[in-house]
Amino acid sequence: MRYFSTRGGSQKLSFEETVLTGLAPNGGLYIPEHIPQLPKDWKTEWGSYSFVDLSVAVLSLYISPDEISRDELRSLVQKSYQTFRHPDVTPLVKLGEKKFVLELFHGPTFAFKDVALQLLGNLFEFFLLRRNAKKPRGAELEKLTVVGATSGDTGSAAIYGLRGKSNVSIFILHPKGRVSPIQEAQMTTVTDSNVHNVAVKGTFDDCQDVVKSLFADKEFNAKHHLGAVNSINWARILAQTVYYFLSYFHVQKHLPAGVSIDDVEIQYVVPTGNFGDILAGYYAKHMGLPMGKLAVATNANDILARFWKSGRYEKIDSETRLSVGAQKITEASGVKETLSPAMDILVSSNFERLLWYLAYEAAIGTSDEEKRNNASLALDEWMHKVKSDGKIEVPIPVLEAARRDFVAEKISDELTLETIRTHFHGQPHYIADPHTAVGLAAAKTIVSNNTPNTYQIVLSTAHPAKFSEAVSRALENVSNFDFDRDVLPAEFRGLLEREKRVLQVERPDVELVKEVIEDVARQSA
Ligand SMILES: *Cc1c(COP(=O)(O)O)cnc(C)c1O
Repeated sequence: MRYFSTRGGSQKLSFEETVLTGLAPNGGLYIPEHIPQLPKDWKTEWGSYSFVDLSVAVLSLYISPDEISRDELRSLVQKSYQTFRHPDVTPLVKLGEKKFVLELFHGPTFAFKDVALQLLGNLFEFFLLRRNAKKPRGAELEKLTVVGATSGDTGSAAIYGLRGKSNVSIFILHPKGRVSPIQEAQMTTVTDSNVHNVAVKGTFDDCQDVVKSLFADKEFNAKHHLGAVNSINWARILAQTVYYFLSYFHVQKHLPAGVSIDDVEIQYVVPTGNFGDILAGYYAKHMGLPMGKLAVATNANDILARFWKSGRYEKIDSETRLSVGAQKITEASGVKETLSPAMDILVSSNFERLLWYLAYEAAIGTSDEEKRNNASLALDEWMHKVKSDGKIEVPIPVLEAARRDFVAEKISDELTLETIRTHFHGQPHYIADPHTAVGLAAAKTIVSNNTPNTYQIVLSTAHPAKFSEAVSRALENVSNFDFDRDVLPAEFRGLLEREKRVLQVERPDVELVKEVIEDVARQSA
């Protein structure tokens, strides 16, 4: 299997090159040459598979055995999911007769991003060790310096994915004092020698700007081999397809006697930000996993929900434009702060991948090759337009293609809180994190359009302890609720008192951050 850029060009990459490159030089994202189809006997063969077995089966369809042998793949996958606390890795929990949550938060940092980042870290290490083993004795080793910025909730998943990995170091910038104490402690108590937390005096946007400038600095980049672990990395999408398959099989165990999985329709509802989690579902669907339309659930940052309504992909909606005043709109002011911060985005980076497939479905051409080229041309034009004008409007056939596979729903903070309360008092009792609550609320909103035999699976993306503010706010007047007793996992207790390691940067200045990285590189050389 080879990979190509959504924005075209003749470049075709191996899986290894795709994973190590991240973003294509022409600004596009890598996608596989074709979406592989499930083997004929998948339903019977895979039905009793564990998460690890399914990972090997699914990933094998996208990775040539001469790149990673099946034995190597199995050991990489095993190593990656050993760190999870639940035997199913991503267990399915029943919340109603036809309603389930798929808990993706049983990894080391209690967030769904662990599923992909645990594997990505092991893939990086595997590829670098292999490349370095081929070098003559004494030659300089290939190393990777991963740099990223976090507002708090996702940095720790990257740190846990890469801690202790050979030939990889990681620098995560966070705005000093603007990250919740638990989230800060989750990152800074990792004391492996290749992990570097950098507290920057400034805002999250300042941190992001610094990271962007680092990547734009060709000389620095070449010297330190900068790498990114953001959700555009193809391996992250691929790793996430697995739980769609696992939950499909696990739902079967909950069907009433006499009802077969072939009689029901499964609807996945996905709390969405950068469109990585739900895009994995799209791949699963197009590989042949039977499901209904995928449901995109967004918070007030609703660029996606607006797209499915209008066909316009527009950073700032007209209402906000009026209230903020056109001249004052910047990226920062356009993002709304919500109770589900991991979904606070202006544009969804992985949406570009979906747009390519939609453009392809709608493309005109006499051959497949011509259609592919036309899809890439259209996409290149759209993405440049989004950048320059802040918006595009796609042709009707593209919007129709989008509506064949997806529905979308926007959920307010008020409804998010109410949903947390409803499920707390529900039968069964369940404490949802605010992102999961956005999904649960969306599921409830759309359920009336479903057929009676639709089973909903809401993807649960974080443990409620990670987002204590929203959970505590939702349940503040509930007398039988106690956050420490009911929510806080044993792993978080005492975290604040543990040894910390963090580097300080006095100003959000790229030169100061470069010095920090140079210093560390010198010391470890
Ligand atoms: C990252 C994240 C999301 C959004 O996932 P995408 O793949 O970016 O759509 C939702 N919830 C939580 C808790 C997350 O960390």
